[in-house]
Amino acid sequence: MSKEIWEKAMALQDQLVTFRRDLHQHPELGMEEFRTADLVAEHLRNLGVEVRTGVGGTGVVGLIRGANAGPTIGLRADMDALPIQDQKSVSYTSQVPGKMHACGHDGHTTILLGAATVLQGWRTKLKGNVKLLFQPAEEGPGGAIPMITDGALEDPKVDAVVGLHLHNDLPVGQIGIRYGTTNASTDSFEIKIIGEGGHGAHPHSSVDAVVVAAQAVTALQTVVSRETDPLDSVVLTVGTINGGYRHNVIADQVVLTGTIRTLDPKTREAMPQRLERILQGITQAGRARYELKINQGYASVSNDERVTSLVEETGRELLGGENVVIIPRPSMGGEDFAYFAQKAPGCFFRLGSRNQEKGIVFPGHHPKYDFDEAAIPVGVAMLVKTVMSFQERW
Ligand SMILES: [Zn+2]
Ligand SMILES: [Zn+2]
Repeated sequence: MSKEIWEKAMALQDQLVTFRRDLHQHPELGMEEFRTADLVAEHLRNLGVEVRTGVGGTGVVGLIRGANAGPTIGLRADMDALPIQDQKSVSYTSQVPGKMHACGHDGHTTILLGAATVLQGWRTKLKGNVKLLFQPAEEGPGGAIPMITDGALEDPKVDAVVGLHLHNDLPVGQIGIRYGTTNASTDSFEIKIIGEGGHGAHPHSSVDAVVVAAQAVTALQTVVSRETDPLDSVVLTVGTINGGYRHNVIADQVVLTGTIRTLDPKTREAMPQRLERILQGITQAGRARYELKINQGYASVSNDERVTSLVEETGRELLGGENVVIIPRPSMGGEDFAYFAQKAPGCFFRLGSRNQEKGIVFPGHHPKYDFDEAAIPVGVAMLVKTVMSFQERW
């Protein structure tokens, strides 16, 4: 079976690379993936796959109905790009100024189309259905929830869901698997420190928001260093500081924005109250006031034991045990695959795409990011074989 899958995946490679490079040259930001979604839908229709478009915005859902009865597996790919200027010098550089597929989502979309091509061709031997979930806006504001709300996981109901992410930490040819929590929750915050403006020469008759904000930035780190179990993981990053007018004017207001990453949902819940307490103390000491807004981002991603072991076994059979890496630690990066995995047991795994010799080493979100296209057939074969194993063993 593995040999047959490899042959199919390799046979599609030229066509898939062409498709991927086209997407790469025409990146679209979240909820604006009109061209991408059209291409995906057109491709699926040409294959004879049932297609629903406009799902939760620009999402596309394909349904491959197996000739034989059985469970339904969902395969998910994200389609959106990032607001980054492409700095690679390759023939397929982004043609859209300030936009770039810097997270490999062009690859995810291409791989899922490749898998759909093989699976649709094997419809007569499928024992169950395959839902193809092409989602918008993974980089924000999130396309998974709108798609789920729009019924993407219903009719037929999805029994398990699998997704992958290209990763330049792993060489091409390998996959990375993790049981349990694999990605962090991603909440963002905005803190307004409110003082009293005045002349830079007369600090005593004003309340300096800059000094209070500076103390807040430092004190907030103690949430991580002094309030969190060292064996639990939290990141609190202040990403921006904005305030002030001029060198000799005391700022009446400073705005801080940042991100909070946690793995444990209980730790996540405790964070707002910890921030409040520190901000209360610091601003009170400095005679200032504050406003805190926390915007809930993605939940952490939790991989299901059974689905994950299925993917792991699939990887071992397809790639050899030496090419299946058990990832020792979760990523503090977020993923809205989390919501699919809340609705159905799921597994989100990493697909190696690093190639030192080709200079493909930059991490996701880097302006020179690229992935080794040799990862495409590996991804296609992994998805196809995962579906086949799922239908045999679920
Ligand atoms: Zn990303
Ligand atoms: Zn991504």
